[in-house]
Amino acid sequence: MQDKRVALVTGANQGIGLQIAKDLVSHGLTVLVGSRNFARGVAAAGEIGADAHPLQLDVTDPASIAAAAEHIGKEFGRLDILIQNAAISNTRKRPDQSVEDYAATTRPSNVSLDEMRAVWETNVFGVLAVYQAMLPLLRKAPGGRIVNVSSGAGSLTRNADPANPHRPIFGPVYPASKTALNAITLAMAIELEAEGIKVNAVSPGFTRTNLNGYAGTETVAEGAREAVRVALLGEDSPTGTFTHATLGTIPW
Ligand code: NAP
Repeated sequence: MQDKRVALVTGANQGIGLQIAKDLVSHGLTVLVGSRNFARGVAAAGEIGADAHPLQLDVTDPASIAAAAEHIGKEFGRLDILIQNAAISNTRKRPDQSVEDYAATTRPSNVSLDEMRAVWETNVFGVLAVYQAMLPLLRKAPGGRIVNVSSGAGSLTRNADPANPHRPIFGPVYPASKTALNAITLAMAIELEAEGIKVNAVSPGFTRTNLNGYAGTETVAEGAREAVRVALLGEDSPTGTFTHATLGTIPW
């Protein structure tokens, strides 16, 4: 029987997910490094150390999700922590296109439904599919934890405020996918409240990663901090929250 707590981080082969995996290992956990490309997962786990194990996991592929859950069940018999970090920001933004220009081409009036579906498939439905597959394993752990990596860009309260300068970026593709993720996070938290499994959303802040062409202002160490803190909270901790490392609670 595995003594160390077992965590799965989706999309952990690079960026914030890789840093979350590193930080959880340094806190003494066994970490499954979810990666849709197995070779990249092997490389990432090798970079982290012996307590990191690569796991092929494409959150949009039901067969991959089922195989991952089966593997965890066989190897560890339970899952203590699930960090749902994998996400994409778009599939069609040209490398030379500014975020503002992409936003202008993805307004409610002109967005490609295929583009919206592709991003929601990963950021929303992928999260729900992984939740459904991993929940039986989380229920076998003494104090299961789920952390969904969201974004302040999905906050309806912030985007409803005309004084918010980032408001023109709010649109149906990535920002609204995070709004939907927040909604299902709350639904998961409510579903699992009575069982003591905590489900929380976190915002990493604007972090230098591939997701934004390395334009972010925070380091991955800063971006990973809140997810790791919330994942390791004890029994008396809250569920159904949305927080950032330095800003505290973010309005839904
Ligand atoms: P990133 O460096 O692009 O990493 C995203 C990860 O998700 C990659 O490992 C990627 O795999 C993986 N992924 C994408 N689609 C997947 C799929 N279908 N199945 C499995 N894995 C998949 O981005 P990041 O900035 O670290 O993003 C991590 C999280 O932070 C995301 O949820 C993002 O929305 C959130 N966030 C980021 C920022 C920011 O400023 N960076 C701000 C707010 C929120 P590949 O390597 O194979 O592409």
